[in-house]
Amino acid sequence: MDIRKLLHEYWGYDSFLPYQKQAIEEVMAERDSLTILPTGGGKSLCYQLPALIREGMAVVVSPLISLMKDQVDSLKEMGISSDVWNSSLTVEGKRSIEKKIRQGDIKILYLAPEGLQNNNTKQMLQSVDISFFVIDEAHCVSQWGHDFRPLYRSELATLKELFRGCGIHAFTATATKVVQRDIIKQLNLREPALLEGYMDRPNLTYRVNLREGDNIGRITSILKLHEGQPGIIYCRKIDDVNKYSEQLRARGFENLRYHAKLDDEERHNNQTAFKGEKINLMIATIAFGMGIDRSNIRFIVHTNMPKSTEAYYQEVGRAGRDNLPSFCYMFYSAKDYRNHIYWIERDTKRGDVNKDKLNQIYNYCAVPGCRHKALVEYFGQKYKGDGCGACDYCLGEVELIEDAANISTTIMKCVMGVRRFGGGHIADVLYGKETERVRQYNHQSLETFGSMHESPSVKYIRNIIEQMVGQGILERDPEYQTLSVTQKGKDILEGKIMPVLAKPPVVVRTREIMRGRRERINEYASSYDANLFNKLKQKRSEIAQRIGKPAYVIFHDRALMEMAARKPLTEENFLSISGVGEAKLEKYGEIFINIISGYVSGNTTEN
Ligand SMILES: [Zn+2]
Repeated sequence: MDIRKLLHEYWGYDSFLPYQKQAIEEVMAERDSLTILPTGGGKSLCYQLPALIREGMAVVVSPLISLMKDQVDSLKEMGISSDVWNSSLTVEGKRSIEKKIRQGDIKILYLAPEGLQNNNTKQMLQSVDISFFVIDEAHCVSQWGHDFRPLYRSELATLKELFRGCGIHAFTATATKVVQRDIIKQLNLREPALLEGYMDRPNLTYRVNLREGDNIGRITSILKLHEGQPGIIYCRKIDDVNKYSEQLRARGFENLRYHAKLDDEERHNNQTAFKGEKINLMIATIAFGMGIDRSNIRFIVHTNMPKSTEAYYQEVGRAGRDNLPSFCYMFYSAKDYRNHIYWIERDTKRGDVNKDKLNQIYNYCAVPGCRHKALVEYFGQKYKGDGCGACDYCLGEVELIEDAANISTTIMKCVMGVRRFGGGHIADVLYGKETERVRQYNHQSLETFGSMHESPSVKYIRNIIEQMVGQGILERDPEYQTLSVTQKGKDILEGKIMPVLAKPPVVVRTREIMRGRRERINEYASSYDANLFNKLKQKRSEIAQRIGKPAYVIFHDRALMEMAARKPLTEENFLSISGVGEAKLEKYGEIFINIISGYVSGNTTEN
């Protein structure tokens, strides 16, 4: 069967995204495989399409139970028979699905991992014709991954044994080389084909800034910039979620909260409201998002530094799944590092792995350089091209300190001169501020006292010191918070390596930058008819509400934008919109074409 034809007929796409075709061919060949495709890379299509062609039923195992139902809803909308099998099914429900399975009426079955520990389920699966297994979120089986789930691993370990001769295809969006090897080992994959998509997500613009105070001013500016667009603000603590939610509401930004301490009903309602596009702004802990498959999230704000680069990559991965431009802002501070390290040092088993990961994300924050390049390289790949045009560094928002070698030498000399003091005090000494503490230790007589007096503020110096900690030039004592010079620092002092430091932003510049960003975003937004887009969106949400499914399963924003730009009036033209397949044409073609034609003729008569 022609895979392109199926792609067009069911998914309404004319071409594959990078790597999709190879991944499909791997699944078609009866050989185990491990595929790493970044978010937005169209991972699920890589196994859903072969499932249509291959004899028997494909079984997809995923630890994200809440996502399964959405996936199945999407498949059903496209006219593909599929169902979910998990412990929440009633006896009646199970019986009816089992009947369909035995009749060969289901092409794709989503299975909760605990199903593989249940003997009845196991026997039932062993007695039917299975085309292949898919292990989704495969990084969760590796203890070197960022989201290790021991149960997921033990539930899957015997799969190869139980279903001999059945291909296993592991999929994940994030896996370093070490994690890749571990997945292959843990799942007992036999000579697997390994396909690694390019990890870069060019549609995301990354910005990282040192956090100052509660940051509410800067968050407000970001929200103004993205007014009316769907977004998530992530907080580390539940208290912060409540605090930001309240403060932002008081400033006129409608939002909902999501965290573990809300009662089940509120949590569920808030999640549904966000998925159903009834609310656009969610303030949440990182627990939110696992079960969210809203494809048009336009911005994500991290109010704290995540615990690892993988975690960050996955959390921002929730933005721009439709591959349209989306924006990621992260604010970090030394306090975040301390909070993470506190928990990491209490974990005797995986402390070292996690500490390493923490140092790397801190380094990512502190090193001025292309963010896209840094992320891609973290996953062991080479960045293609130079200058992404979509990060604070490449957009010229980061200005480098010209005499970084001198500045860092001055700071290190001061660190060595004061001995065993924290960053705040060291910044005071460098700025030449005669605090009580400075006098108490007679630090005003140090050679470095006041040597950075030309700097705009103490805060400015504090920011540079923090960059040096993040880059591993200085080291902070975990208990006393005092600073010392590392080996890397000594290498800089000896002129063996050249440091790279960024000028901390000062208030005026930040405003200019914000203005610049606004202009760029407006330029992008003017390429389609926004009034028509809103009308189409309104209809989509009406339908979504009526059928009780998330809006994106009907059409993605991208498809609506294309409709609003190209204004198709015939079925044939409508079918040519990316994301419109036969099933969707049949179901929704008339409704949407009517809106477009009503809109077009309304506009002409007005003229
Ligand atoms: Zn860049």
